Formats: sequence, structure tokens, C-alpha cells
Amino acid sequence: MKLTKNQAIRIAQKVYGKQDERVKEIEHMYRDTQSKVINDVDAFMGANKSWTAKASPDEIANFLANLKDTFYNASADDQNLIKIAYGSNELRTNGDMLMANITRDVVRQSMAQKIHLGVSTKNIPDVVNASTYHQATKVLRNNRHISEQSKNVDAIIYKSVQNATLDSHVDSDMFSSINKQTMQTLRKVRDVAEMAAKSPKDSLNWKTTISNILTGGDKATDGQMGRAAGLIRTATAQAMNRTRLQDFHSRGVKKYKYISLEAQNTCADCDALDGQIFNVEDAEEGVNFPLMHPNCQCTVIEINDDDDWDNSDYDVTDELDEL
Ligand SMILES: [Zn+2]
Repeated sequence: MKLTKNQAIRIAQKVYGKQDERVKEIEHMYRDTQSKVINDVDAFMGANKSWTAKASPDEIANFLANLKDTFYNASADDQNLIKIAYGSNELRTNGDMLMANITRDVVRQSMAQKIHLGVSTKNIPDVVNASTYHQATKVLRNNRHISEQSKNVDAIIYKSVQNATLDSHVDSDMFSSINKQTMQTLRKVRDVAEMAAKSPKDSLNWKTTISNILTGGDKATDGQMGRAAGLIRTATAQAMNRTRLQDFHSRGVKKYKYISLEAQNTCADCDALDGQIFNVEDAEEGVNFPLMHPNCQCTVIEINDDDDWDNSDYDVTDELDEL
């Protein structure tokens, strides 16, 4: 499908730009996980449990049954993460159980995040390969409808059991980034929870500390949630641009024009490339083809030698679509 500059920009904005729903979904998931972690620590403190006393056999049995169920349904990558995350976590004392519960919360967050990444990129080929711009926006609207249903971690994991998908347009190193960040987050959260649970009287700020780690609390950084949001933007933008390049190759398109979305906070480096024309056969990601950097919001449109209509910012369909 041939797009005008304005159409390409509008699609990019819906997929990974300012109108992106996927980032909001990530934020929901992180707040959900944060509540779970805080509830686990609260429950421990509220019951005045001793850290070193033996845990109830029922609690241990329930926990193990759930963990085995999760493990059985997990992808190979997630099974590996589960093994690493629980490491030498024994299940003897109340303290062990609290650590295991927190590990479960953070690992499930990671699993849901990877599924979300797969789902978010899965329909991008349908957008890129749609026959008309109108069709592409229709696909996008349907995607949004589907994604609105999966804002909590348990629902996402439950849904994925039926159809675990790994999109070929998602770099496998994105999954290892998520795993690495999960382990770092887990170590920090466990440390805070352990300190709070061992000496409840001295640990007034533990909830704030946990919020800072997971969602940034009141800080501008957004903590781990902010890093996860950056990752989903990068993944969807990368999937869309890679699929478009494949489409150019398969349709024998010779040239493309680089388009920077001119977002205020991103792509300052890409401004210089905006409007430049390159040969499709010379396209190289990170050199003259987006993405140029993480969080890059640039895109491309095809250019043909025999016409120059797409060098204009306006065309009739575009104008009518605005009505
Ligand atoms: Zn850029």
C-alpha cells in the first residue's frame, strides 16, 4: 500500500507515537503488580508472622501447585526465567514464603510483558500490508479493541496459554532485556520486602521504596515501568518499519523517503534525515533506515521515479480522511 506522508505519520502515531494504547497497558500491568507485592508484604506484617517460623504446609502445597501449573504452561524462555528467579528459594519458613510470593508477582509481570510484546506486534503486518489506508486504520481500531481487554497480568497470562505466539519481528534480545531487568527489579524488591518484614517498626517507607522501583512512585523516571514502556514503543516501531521494508522489497519498490515524526522529546538526531531519499537496496537499520535509536519514532514512505505526488504533503484522499 502506498501512503502519503501524512498517512504514514498518522499510522505511526497510532502504532507507537503519542496515541499509543500499548504504553497505557504496560502501566496498568505494573500498577497491578505493585499492588500485589505491597499486599503480600502487608499480609505478612498484618498477621505478625515470624520470619523464621515454619510456614503452613497448606500454604507451601498451594504455592507449589500454582507454580507447577504456571511452569507447565510457560514458554521455554519463561521456564528458564522461572528457574533462575526462584534460584535457591527454599519453601520452609514464613520468610521463604514471602520471598517466593514476591518472586511470583514479579515473574508473572515479566511473562505478561513478553506476551504483550508479542500481541502488540502481531497485527502490524496486517496494518502494513493492508490494501488501502482506510483498511489499515480499520485494522488498528480492531487491535485497540482487543488490547483493551487485557490490562491485568492474570488475564494476559491466562489468555496466552491457548495461543503462545512469538512474533518474528521482535528481536529475541528484547526478551533477554526483559529477563535481565526482571532479575534486577526482583533483587531490589525482595531486599526491601525482607527488611520491612523483619523489622516492621523501622520500615515506614517501604511502600514508597517499592513504588519507586516498580513504577517510579512520584519520580519522573517511572522506574521499571518507564523502561518497559520504552521497550514496547521500540518493539512496535521496529516491527512496523521492518515489515514495511519487506513489503518494499516484495513489491520491487526502488526508493523510499525517510520521515521523522518530529516529536518534541525524541528523534532530535533523526531531524537531519527527515525528507532524505534512499535506495531500498541500500536500506540499513540504524544508518539510513529507522529505527535509528531506542524510542525512535521515525518511519518511511515509498517514492517512485515516475511520479512525485507523494512529495507533497497533501492529496485528495488525505484531505477527505480529515473530514
Ligand atoms: Zn527517529
